Amino acid sequence: MPKPIFGGNWKMHKTMQQAVRTVGELKKEIQNLDEVEVVVFPPFTALSSVKAVIEGSSIALGAQNMHEKEEGAYTGEISSSMLLDVGCEYVILGHSERRQYFGETDNQINKKARAALSSGLIPILCVGERLKERKDGKAEEIVSVQLRGCLEGIDLQGGEKLVIAYEPVWAIGTGETATPEQAQEMHRFIRITLEELLGKEIAYSIRIQYGGSAKPDNIKGLMCQPDIDGALVGGASLEASSFARIIKYKE
Ligand code: PEP
Repeated sequence: MPKPIFGGNWKMHKTMQQAVRTVGELKKEIQNLDEVEVVVFPPFTALSSVKAVIEGSSIALGAQNMHEKEEGAYTGEISSSMLLDVGCEYVILGHSERRQYFGETDNQINKKARAALSSGLIPILCVGERLKERKDGKAEEIVSVQLRGCLEGIDLQGGEKLVIAYEPVWAIGTGETATPEQAQEMHRFIRITLEELLGKEIAYSIRIQYGGSAKPDNIKGLMCQPDIDGALVGGASLEASSFARIIKYKE
């Protein structure tokens, strides 16, 4: 199995100076820890200065979004080559906040994922159901549609890497976490769907992160589950000390 992967999604938080301070503290806290992979996702404006701090360390850099086109008249947008140029290895795609507030569809996310993969970036593809959909017994159906739509035409036969983040929308930023059993059940379902779409070998090489109010005090229970391969962390990644406690969940 590949290493577990922990991502810190800082969303629209932190000036350059604040981002540099946080990542500097994080670097100290997780020195010599090589059994997990750690990626930070600062806002675009802090990517370059954060990159300078993590250079030579095991922390990788990622962006929170990108545009599917390489260049052109798309005011306010950022392309994959711009992200690579600044040192990004990862990009979050299809986060529920992008879907909810910016109207991103599975089709658009699929275009972004194809562009990211062909440029050499590793997409972290977010899927997850809303509360009503879970209550209506439709959680798996929703996640299945999202996975199939976002992965259409993608086979990863060239050895490209991809990460999936299962983020139940009702657990994001709410303090309400999925129980380890609820999360495992959906991660298992995602693994089986990936197996169907991409084949067994690739499905088991893909890390499936849990996201949604992951915290130092609930991470251990989540990470014990066989199909949970890491976490995408929002609020609790803003402080280096709490993010480090999540990353060092085994201690
Ligand atoms: C997220 O937005 O990806 C997330 C998981 O946020 P939080 O940890 O704050 O719920």
